[in-house]
Amino acid sequence: MFNVEKNRNKGRILNLLYKKKKLTKQIIAKELDVSIPTVISNVNELIKDELVEECGVADSTGGRKPVIVRFLKNSRYAFGVDINPEKARVVLTNLDLEIKYDEEFLIDSLKDFKAIMEEISECVKRALKAENIKEDKILGIGFSLPGTVNEEKFLLEIAPNIGIRNVNFKEFQNYFNMPMFIENEANAAALAELSVGIVKDDRNLVYISVTSGVGTGIVVNGCLYKGKNKRAGEFGHMSIMPNGKRCKCGKTGCWEMYVSEKALLKGFNEISDKKVKNLSEFFKALSSDNEKYKQYFDDYLNMLAVGIQNIELTLDPHYIVLGGEISKYEKYYMKELKEKIFIENSFYSKGDMKLLTSKLKKDSSVIGAALLPITSAFSIEEKII
Ligand SMILES: [Zn+2]
Repeated sequence: MFNVEKNRNKGRILNLLYKKKKLTKQIIAKELDVSIPTVISNVNELIKDELVEECGVADSTGGRKPVIVRFLKNSRYAFGVDINPEKARVVLTNLDLEIKYDEEFLIDSLKDFKAIMEEISECVKRALKAENIKEDKILGIGFSLPGTVNEEKFLLEIAPNIGIRNVNFKEFQNYFNMPMFIENEANAAALAELSVGIVKDDRNLVYISVTSGVGTGIVVNGCLYKGKNKRAGEFGHMSIMPNGKRCKCGKTGCWEMYVSEKALLKGFNEISDKKVKNLSEFFKALSSDNEKYKQYFDDYLNMLAVGIQNIELTLDPHYIVLGGEISKYEKYYMKELKEKIFIENSFYSKGDMKLLTSKLKKDSSVIGAALLPITSAFSIEEKII
């Protein structure tokens, strides 16, 4: 395994090449303000580590032609795992977060969390075998989890939607012969959007994950904002309806009780003769020009808009990214949702904040999970506040 921690310049050069993919040694020296011999010796080490390679020369600007160094995206890999109340998904990605192996399994038939982790470790073994990749090329495994996560204590603290508390991931370390990392699913997705998704510049963003629950990940100035108890961003459990529907968290009127994917489908099946199993069927039914269905979806969008307005008023971010399966169907609601958010509002107007749908769609959490070991191995600054 390579070590960038002992050698700061080696880490900085690797990070720069990771971001820019291909640079001449002269440009590396200039960008990082280090000498050419320092670049040459560190690049030689990185070549030995098989992380970069020389690939020809650029045009000369006088003197010798500068050698180009290229980052090798398939030199290492990482596992990302997304666990949600319905299923677990395991992916193997290269360093550019391209998915090489993808497997998922339903988890409701399995009894406890230990059984889920055992199945995941089997998926990992199958992935390595299928892709013919040796374990020493794996940087680690990151988990995206549906609850509050204390990554320092290695704890999944509260996950009401899967009915578990205080799961200590240290107990599962021997299942995986590689470094392990954990993060809340909306936080992982927010990190992914920031690194490879729709919002590439380091600014302020809130990622809203609409799945079987609703989670949010908050990014302030490029850093994940988690707060004192690592519970910041539980907007899914802000009350928007006093004495409203009872939530699994114990409170009533929580936002996710009205706007989660589960709530959308369940509510529709209650008012309609036509029963739907998923969003694809729901939006198909909605296209049938039925007034009752249209009214139902309009009420749903009102609830979605109320929560987004509250987030906007609380954090005033540059971007709000709407994620989860529903982001695939933006053509059915985006224009209307924006109207609802900005209507009769004296605090802000449409130009003040951008509402976007996730570019990574259903992959954002799992990609964010795979990003955790990569970020750690490359000593990219810790980005949690
Ligand atoms: Zn709640």
